Amino acid sequence: MYRVGIPRSLAYFFYLPLWKTFITELGHEVIESPPTSRAILDRGVKEAVNDACIPIKLYHGHAAYLAERCDLLFCPRLVSVRKHGDFGSETFCPKFLGLPDMVRLALNPLPPLIDVRIDLKQPRTGLWDAACEVGQKLGHGQAEIKRALRLAQAAQQSFRNLCQRGVLVPDALEAVLNGKKVSPKATPGHDLTIAVVGYPYVIYDPYINAGLFKILQEEGVNIVTQDMLTDQILNWQARELPKTLFWYFSNRAVYGGLHFMKKGRVDGMIHVTAFACGPDSMVDRLLEIEVRRRSSMPYLAIAVDEHTGEAGVRTRVEAFLDMLRYQRKGK
Ligand code: SF4
Repeated sequence: MYRVGIPRSLAYFFYLPLWKTFITELGHEVIESPPTSRAILDRGVKEAVNDACIPIKLYHGHAAYLAERCDLLFCPRLVSVRKHGDFGSETFCPKFLGLPDMVRLALNPLPPLIDVRIDLKQPRTGLWDAACEVGQKLGHGQAEIKRALRLAQAAQQSFRNLCQRGVLVPDALEAVLNGKKVSPKATPGHDLTIAVVGYPYVIYDPYINAGLFKILQEEGVNIVTQDMLTDQILNWQARELPKTLFWYFSNRAVYGGLHFMKKGRVDGMIHVTAFACGPDSMVDRLLEIEVRRRSSMPYLAIAVDEHTGEAGVRTRVEAFLDMLRYQRKGK
């Protein structure tokens, strides 16, 4: 039995039910790194290249934590997760494409990586091929892999269903993997609904965004995110743009933003953007232009980096909510 480490960053918030269930069902132990802390961030800043974005630095911190505790480190090369159609040219950001190479060059000691290439655009490297590669590395044959993959896909589907019923991603992960009871209903007494859009590893990591969700919930706000929308709804928004972006997570943030801009869906929108992120310089500008063009919805962009503190984020969020409530009273 192997101990397989999965870093709690980047696509963790997107694929954990699939890969954790798959590896566990094959009889191995999955070790997740703990929630981000100052120590993990400092380690990531030390190990990663200087000009990397903060999520990549954080990933290095999580991977370094696991490197000393696991036999194999799960660090896939995510290329694409959409098969065909209008999204043929869409990939993950270049940092995802080079992630195993960056980690290999930066960390020492490092256990062997499970650096499977996930490129669902290519028929020969689809999910089945990726699962076979991981399963064979762990010493299993096709029958065991097939069974584990079936259960893993079911877990991933349950996770997606919960999110689409209005459960926030961290709660949906807890529900699917640890049996936590969750309720998709809006909290009674909360008078505002705010859309929070951005990359999953930025909006669902409370350390990196200085506890944004907790601040909003304490302020009596219901939160919705792009991950509560079905792929069909998100893809529909692509038709409203002359051209889509190249990067998968960027497109999801933009399409979610465009959906929530439609009248009456939410009271305001917050885009959480990562400092030093190339794609985000386009995403943020695009959302800002579109929100002005299409609506009078209040829009707030919060840029996070390694120096972001709770006081700064809280002040801006409180001012934003005060303005929304003031505006509502005026109406
Ligand atoms: S999309 Fe931006 S934040 Fe995400 S890994 Fe790429 S550069 Fe970093």
